[in-house]
Order: sequence, then C-alpha cells, then structure tokens
Amino acid sequence: MIGVVIGRGGSKIKNIQSMTNTKIFIIQGDSEAVVKIFGSKDMKAKAKEAIETIVKKQEESYGSESSVDNAASQASAGRELSTDNTGTQARPWIDWDRVRAGVVEWNKRKWAGLPPIKKNFYIESQATSSLSQVQVDNWRKENFNIICDDWKDGEKRSIPKPTLKFKDAFQHYPDLLKNIEKAGFQKPTPIQSQAWPIILQGIDLIGVAQTGTGKTLSYLMPGFIHLNSQPVSREERNGPGMLVLTPTRELALQVEAECSKYSYKGLTSICIYGGESREQQIKDIAKGTDIIIATPGRLNDLQMNKSVNLKSITYLVLDEADKMLDLGFDHQIMKILFDIRPDRQTIMTSATWPDTIHRLAQSYLKEPMIVYVGTLDLAAVNTVKQNVTVTTEEEKRSLIQEFLRNLSPKDKVIIFVNRKLVADDLSSDLSLQGIPVQSLHGSREQSDREQALNDFKSGDVKILIATDLASRGLDVDDVTHVYNYDFPRNIEEYVHRVGRTGRAGKMGISTTLMTQSDWKNVPELIKILERANQSVPEDLVTMAEQHKSGKRKKNSRKRHKKSRGKP
Ligand code: AMP
Repeated sequence: MIGVVIGRGGSKIKNIQSMTNTKIFIIQGDSEAVVKIFGSKDMKAKAKEAIETIVKKQEESYGSESSVDNAASQASAGRELSTDNTGTQARPWIDWDRVRAGVVEWNKRKWAGLPPIKKNFYIESQATSSLSQVQVDNWRKENFNIICDDWKDGEKRSIPKPTLKFKDAFQHYPDLLKNIEKAGFQKPTPIQSQAWPIILQGIDLIGVAQTGTGKTLSYLMPGFIHLNSQPVSREERNGPGMLVLTPTRELALQVEAECSKYSYKGLTSICIYGGESREQQIKDIAKGTDIIIATPGRLNDLQMNKSVNLKSITYLVLDEADKMLDLGFDHQIMKILFDIRPDRQTIMTSATWPDTIHRLAQSYLKEPMIVYVGTLDLAAVNTVKQNVTVTTEEEKRSLIQEFLRNLSPKDKVIIFVNRKLVADDLSSDLSLQGIPVQSLHGSREQSDREQALNDFKSGDVKILIATDLASRGLDVDDVTHVYNYDFPRNIEEYVHRVGRTGRAGKMGISTTLMTQSDWKNVPELIKILERANQSVPEDLVTMAEQHKSGKRKKNSRKRHKKSRGKP
C-alpha cells in the first residue's frame, strides 16, 4: 500500500501535501506502516481522508475479479481502472477539484475578517533619485560587491537605488533618525543602504549577509515603521505585529537588545526561548507586546498550547535561516508559519546560500528581491589575518598554551572547539593554571550562558571557550583573536567563526589548528585564504595534494576492480 499512497516519484503524496498544506511522513514497519501528518486540524483530516480513499480503492481493486497489478495502478497516476468487466473507463480516485476547492474555502475562512496591511512607506529622497546607474553600480561594487536580483516571475521590477545616508531612508521619520544619531553611527552599512529602500516599499527580501554587517537593523528599522503605520492601531491589533525567528537564545537576546536600544514610539518587545520558565513567558505574552523575538522550538510549543496569537503578525523575519535549518528547526518553522497570515511581509537573512535555503525562500517568501553582500560563494573575511597550522591532536594543548602566553592584556579571544567535553576540559585546565576563562555551550544552564557572555562582553574575562553555538550571532565588537582549536564541521562555519573578529572596522587575527582528519575541508580553505589574499602554508598545500593523489589512486583501483569484474 505504501507505494500506492506515495505514487510514482512521490507524485501522489506530493499532491496530497500541496493540496492540503500538510507535511506527510510514512514510516514503514514490519507489517504495518505509520503515517504521520503535520498541519492544521482541518487539513490533517483532509489529508487523512485522501490517503484512506487511496487505500480503500486499492483494497477494492485487489478484491475485484479483474485484479489490477500494483505497477499498473501506479502508472494510472491517481486514476483507478474500472473494476467492472464492461470496459476500461477511468474514474478518479480522489476528487481533486473538491479537495482544492475545500482548501481555498478553508483558507478564506481562516483569514477572513483580518484588517488590511499597509506595506509601502518609501519616498525616494532627492539625493537617492539623482544617483546615476553608473554611480549605483560602482557603489555596489565598492561595498562588498553587493549583488541584487528580483525573484518575481515575468517582467522584473527595477531594484531600488541604495540610500547612502540615514536621512535618505528615514527623512519622514525624525524620531527614528534621532535614535540612530544617538547611537553615533556615521552612515548605513552596505546591507542597510540596499535593504531599506526595498523593505520600505513592502517587498519581501532575502538578505545574504553575515552577522556583523548590520543586518539586524536592516530589518528592524523598516519593521518599526511598518508596525507603527498600520491602519489598525497597536491597541486594537490584539497580538504582536512583528515576529523575528532566530536559531539560538543568544541571537534572540541580541536582537531584543537592539530592539530596546533603538525603541521607536514605545514599541515593546519580548524574547521567547527554551530553557527559561514557560509560565513567565506566557504571562509576558498575555500582558501584550508589539514584537516577539523567538527561537522556533519554544514558540511552536506555546503556539500549540494556544498561548500566543500569531494571526496579528504582519511583519515576519527569519533571521539566520541557514542556522535554523542546520539545527533542525524546519518543522517548527513550517508549523509556526501555518498560523501567520499569508499576505504578511517576510524578510529572511542567511549567511550562506545552499539549496535548502533557496527552497525555504521559495516556500515562504512572495516575489522577493535578494541582496547578496559579498560574493555568492563564501565571502572571505578581509579584515582578519588568517593563520593556519597543520598539527596533530596531541600537540594542540602545547600550541594553545604558547598562544595564550603570547597574548597582551588587552587581547580578547574566542577559542572554538567542536565538543562540549573539550570545552569543559580545556576551561578547567586553564582555570587550574589561574587563567580566567568562561565557556559557552549547549549543555550549560541558560543563566550560566548569559553570565559567560556578559563576562566576556564586559571584558571581565578575556577568554571565551565556545562550541559552534556561539559562532554566529555573537556580537562582541572587540574580539582581537579567534582560535580554532578544532577545525569546524564545515567551511561555512569556518567563515562564521573567523568573522567573530575583525569587526566594526578593526583588524583581527585568527589561528586555526588542522589535523590530517580535517583533510576534506582543505581545498575549500585554500580557496578562501587565496581569495582573502592570505598566505597559504606549505603544509596545507601538501595535505591537499596528498589527499588528491590518494583519492585518484583509490578511484583508479575502483575502476580497475570494476573493469575486471566485467565479463
Ligand atoms: P549585526 O550584523 O546586526 O549583528 O550588527 C553588528 C553590529 O553593528 C551591532 O552592534 C550594531 O549595533 C552595529 N551597527 C548596526 N548598524 C550600524 C551602522 N550603520 N554603523 C555602525 N555600526 C552599526
């Protein structure tokens, strides 16, 4: 039955999923299969009905005299061959038109009576209009080689020119300008210049940019204006207007800090994440707030218990979407998005651009524009001097001791390790030697993690030992060194880790230890070093060559074996 329900190339199951807005998993057991359906209550029932109809029809056709074999029934793609002996008239298994109409009707009912959304608040300034296309192109090239694209099908819209000064974007919002002035920023960062005129026009945006580029304010500022300018007043909205989904508690707290720092017209925000009291968070939501910044797991939990109303959200941000997928939040994101009105404005940021992110954007954003900061492939960090040492596991301890001995009192270091155990081990080792350190990893209590981060930010502790949990979203301006005690799982993570230093216009230094077991990442690492004009150590080149020739030998052995096996 499983094959029948799935259909050729997954055609039937895909059809049911898309018709009913659900996600379906079939888990094959010994004699029975379990079908798990995720989605809203009504749609789950519809999907269940559709599956049961297929199974029932198939059972009927098995029982009938003119038995239809499985392959033939699958080839009929959703149609059952007539079981009477009079002919081969086709009869639909599922009345797709009815299912489709049901979905449209259900969606209409679900979103009926919601207030209209206002999205366009942009008036191009004189200075921005007067920029010529050549000036715009040059500016983009000189600013991390920004590339923009329009994902709308058919005729493309013109990409808005960048707002080079704060007042070009927010001249009609003096309170917002005052807040920015207070922060003492000189000018918008490249992503802000290019993202603001897009978002302020109400267009969905994908921003491919790393932490440290000013991406948070690139979505928060237009979001504040959006929230404060809706036809329905904040009091009448009866729920939050903006939702920012982030992968980690640390990033959620950082976004919240930015929200409060630049708070506009008294907009309020709260943070929802795991590891903290649910009850308190439920109380905070009940008190009313304009902005929720949340990690997907906890928010989905509260959503399921009906402790949070997501229907009022008109401005949605998926921050560091690639990291959210890496952490396996795709299901929770999907379930959260079921309850957010489809005509919302959506902004997505991601530091990398793999296929999974591409698909996520296709599913959840409508006709977005995309702004890549840096090249499409991994942006090399230009403000960091990147050192790489090829060594062995045993030598790592003495190398890090030597590194720490050579630090000056002003230096601030993040040491990255891959496992919590190593983080604990290393930090107790250094503490025993009287070196004050803090550590940050997923198994520490939330309060300890916050304490660790605060100690490091304030400079009370100058050495932070962290797993990749801290490699992104960690916004500490004055980190002078990044030390990769272990090479990360993938090359993207390397770029993120290295990007924790060399921020806010300062130069930074990274040191990376590599062992033979990290060989898979060597070719990509060499490319990154070359692109950033860094010297590539001889050892690294040798390692790459050894593994290349090793691979070649292995391949030729395989080919040889294969050809010998042939008759
Ligand atoms: P983010 O990429 O959002 O993590 O931002 C990194 C840091 O840059 C934060 O501390 C921001 O406060 C800061 N920042 C944001 N916008 C600007 C700007 N226009 N000029 C200088 N710093 C900024």
